Amino acid sequence: MPPAHSQSVETCLAALGTGPDGLTAGEAARRLAQHGANRLPEARRRGPVRRFLAQFQNVLIFVLIGAALVTGALQHWVDTGVIVAVVLANAIIGFIQEGKAEAALAAIRGMLAPHAAVLRDGHRVSVDGAELVPGDIVLLEAGDKVPADLRVVQAHGLAAEEAMLTGESVPVDKTADPVAEDAALGDRRSMLWSGTLLTQGTARGLVVATGAATEIGRIGTLLAGVEQLQTPLLAQMDHFARWLSFLILLAAALLLAYGTYVAHYDFADLFMVVVGVAVAAIPEGLPAVMTISLAIGVKAMARRNAIVRRLPAIEAIGSVSVICTDKTGTLTRNEMVVAVAETPEGVFEIAGEGYAPEGRITPPGNLDALARAAALCNDAQLRQTGGHWTVEGDPMEGALLAFAGKARPQARPDTRRLDAIPFDSRHRYMAVLTEGPEGRMIAVKGAPERVLRMCCDIDLKRWHDRAEALARRGLRVLALAERAQAGDRIDAATLEGGLVLLGLVGLFDPPRPEAIAAVAECRAAGIRVKMITGDHAGTAAAIAAKVGLAHPDRVLTGADLDRLDDAQLALEVGSVDVFARTSPEHKLRLVTALQANGLTVAMTGDGVNDAPSLKRADVGIAMGRKGSEAAKEAADLVLADDNFASIAAAVREGRTVFDNLKKVISWTLPTNAGESLVVVLALLAGHALPITAVQILWINLITAITLGLALAFEPTEAGTMARPPRPRGAPILTGSLVWHVALVAILFLAAVSGIFSYATDRGYPIELARTMAMNTLVVLEIFHLFFVRNIHGTSLTFAAVRGTRVVWIVVVTITTAQLAVTYLAPLQAIFGTRAVPLLDGLLILGVGVAFFAVIEIEKQIRLGLVGQDRS
Ligand code: ATP
Repeated sequence: MPPAHSQSVETCLAALGTGPDGLTAGEAARRLAQHGANRLPEARRRGPVRRFLAQFQNVLIFVLIGAALVTGALQHWVDTGVIVAVVLANAIIGFIQEGKAEAALAAIRGMLAPHAAVLRDGHRVSVDGAELVPGDIVLLEAGDKVPADLRVVQAHGLAAEEAMLTGESVPVDKTADPVAEDAALGDRRSMLWSGTLLTQGTARGLVVATGAATEIGRIGTLLAGVEQLQTPLLAQMDHFARWLSFLILLAAALLLAYGTYVAHYDFADLFMVVVGVAVAAIPEGLPAVMTISLAIGVKAMARRNAIVRRLPAIEAIGSVSVICTDKTGTLTRNEMVVAVAETPEGVFEIAGEGYAPEGRITPPGNLDALARAAALCNDAQLRQTGGHWTVEGDPMEGALLAFAGKARPQARPDTRRLDAIPFDSRHRYMAVLTEGPEGRMIAVKGAPERVLRMCCDIDLKRWHDRAEALARRGLRVLALAERAQAGDRIDAATLEGGLVLLGLVGLFDPPRPEAIAAVAECRAAGIRVKMITGDHAGTAAAIAAKVGLAHPDRVLTGADLDRLDDAQLALEVGSVDVFARTSPEHKLRLVTALQANGLTVAMTGDGVNDAPSLKRADVGIAMGRKGSEAAKEAADLVLADDNFASIAAAVREGRTVFDNLKKVISWTLPTNAGESLVVVLALLAGHALPITAVQILWINLITAITLGLALAFEPTEAGTMARPPRPRGAPILTGSLVWHVALVAILFLAAVSGIFSYATDRGYPIELARTMAMNTLVVLEIFHLFFVRNIHGTSLTFAAVRGTRVVWIVVVTITTAQLAVTYLAPLQAIFGTRAVPLLDGLLILGVGVAFFAVIEIEKQIRLGLVGQDRS
């Protein structure tokens, strides 16, 4: 077959064996088996071996490997063995964590697979984009991403942006007319290329190539592999950890020099101690544990139907202070039903549920013309499956079809569409030109203000008032009009002033109960919720009141916004929660105005023109179901269920992630500081070491990774959504964290040295004293963990004491390991430990309790929890 772009539509359809009804399901399945899935080859992922080896690219590991070589050369085999064990444990845990994080991300990418509307057996059905086959007829509209290479069969005002293929960012107009065979790719106006975006219009396209056979597939573009888990905060911590490691290594080198040349310690012993201190001090587990915390957050959000597309946004989500949301489908169910129709003859109440075209109309009357226009000016289809009616396409248009069925139960007359002006949120109406038994007719539906203006011979004021009254009941109002037409094209200009008004319909779309609860939750969390809708001010205000926005009565319309300059808008925007009859451009101005007030803005959007405001917002949120691909590509977060409640859930998870990152840091830094301080001070003072180098390595081996890791799994703290949002850009290393590090390090030092002195004073052998000191350190770390689990509230609740499964697994593991090192003879030989008498064991536990009491009291005083009613 010659290239499709230069052939007529009929030739192309015939060449691919496609009829007017598209392919049959059976034929599509056969072709799918023949051509394979419509998917681009994926970039190869890093193999497990390379991922494992990557774990060794780490300063700490280099230090440890160096230390293993030195101790090996000195023939201190026990030390070498312990060091090698630490290295391997680090690498294995890092490997497993990273694998889990990558798998979580990969699973989430899969959830974003695009769908395509395709004609099969004469019906419009939605299929997975990967199931398209050559010969399929695809239905597209503005905002869609072209799912395969298509020959345009029908186009209305069609334009596509093809920069990814041609480098040309200005959208190209597309038509069904063939072009010259030797036209360059960018000039083949009869073709739509896979992966490009439709910026306006609607189209039917014939699939001519899929998967790797498409133009984009041919230039060998690979789908981006799994994105690395990286956020600004993580990058900052990584940077911090590197610097800290560098400083610690420098300090360790100085310590080694001091010990060798000034204090004249034995080099071999000293070397091991210095290595132990460096390992204790370097927060080696930190970046890995933070990464896993993020991955857990991403997964938790996905479970709540919020899919994170860009990881850095996860931090912004937790600090959102204002959410600007759409109305239809987000706050409401987007399950519409026509409840009222008003014609010049009177007012009719329409009964019936869902999309079933059955229901009484009271009083009975002739709604034929209104129903006909509603059915013709319509792109949706109703389908009955198992007695249940569903809509394929826009739910509002589905409701109009159901209404048409109720009003005119006879079959839709055989009418052909000649031309159309598709709906656009900027002009707010849709018009079609059809040819049928009544001749050539134009039918128009749209926002009343817009359509009434196009009509002749009506009492404009009276109709406006009637529309207003319907809107105030919370109904979405459409006006319908028609006129006879001679030509075969619609021209927007000729519609003005020449239409005959058929009437109004009022559509009911109930608020989602869970959205009402979520709005209340957000408001309690200090997050303002604003509704930005294209709908009528009256409808918007009525729904705003139903879902519980703070100021439902003050409404600014798009026209009002146009009258305000940016400075005035920034002043006004704080006290208004409902914005109606807005266009996508207004959304952009609103985001900017809110950000000018220092707020962190989340903005929802679904249309192709929403992309700029989604990009501009701190968190751009696209609707997974009704949203266009263009909006999804611009968004940070995609809602799988289009539901406002999922935004609130994402904020909650975002706050949890941030808290957990903070907890991981709050646990790791003071613990590391405390551990190393104990040894360094003894070394500098020339005292006997309270803990040997091998023991420090052991503690790091078992605790540093396990205990810290438990914090990544922490559930949401109670009261998380009762706190005001974290200010934008607030640092994680705050003054109070530095204070906490200092306090805990000093308490560690006091407790461990105290126990050690107590033991030596009682005349215990040094080995026993050290065993007690080491166990004290581990007990303190565990108590510190329980403390850190609740950084915003008291730890003295049943829930806090009960902990989580992960916490207890970790605690039981560590306790078992400690008992083994303390009491098992072979391990005693390796680690130089002795059995600790029971009473002294209890004493150590008591020290842990005392430590916990001190830091808990300090926290309660600092947070002002003391004396506060905790009910
Ligand atoms: P929401 O925030 O409720 O989702 P929106 O911002 O998506 O609203 P639009 O879809 O832009 O609102 O619709 C704005 C107005 O345009 C509607 O109130 C309605 O009057 C009209 N309208 C919407 N969809 C269509 C359509 N398919 N055909 C004709 N008119 C429409």
